[in-house]
Amino acid sequence: MAPSRGLKKKGRGKPFAKRRKVFHRRKVCRFCADTSIEINYKAPKTLKYFITERGKIIPRRISGTCAKHQRKLSLEIKRARMIALLPFVGNAGHF
Ligand SMILES: [Zn+2]
Repeated sequence: MAPSRGLKKKGRGKPFAKRRKVFHRRKVCRFCADTSIEINYKAPKTLKYFITERGKIIPRRISGTCAKHQRKLSLEIKRARMIALLPFVGNAGHF
């Protein structure tokens, strides 16, 4: 390969900062850990924990819920929304 002159180095200011270790708390699925918690649309209190204040479902990688329960969770949240137990859009502040 022919070495291309000039384009080799771009004058970037800072090199990309080394990523620190991101929070490495062991996440465990709440529903696996405590089998007494039931994911049900009739229990919006539980579901509320897994949605943001804007009404969005919190992703698995944040909440740590396992795939199986996340699936169930999203289903139940959607059901709860249908019967107005949960909001589609939460209080989005002042708009
Ligand atoms: Zn689980």
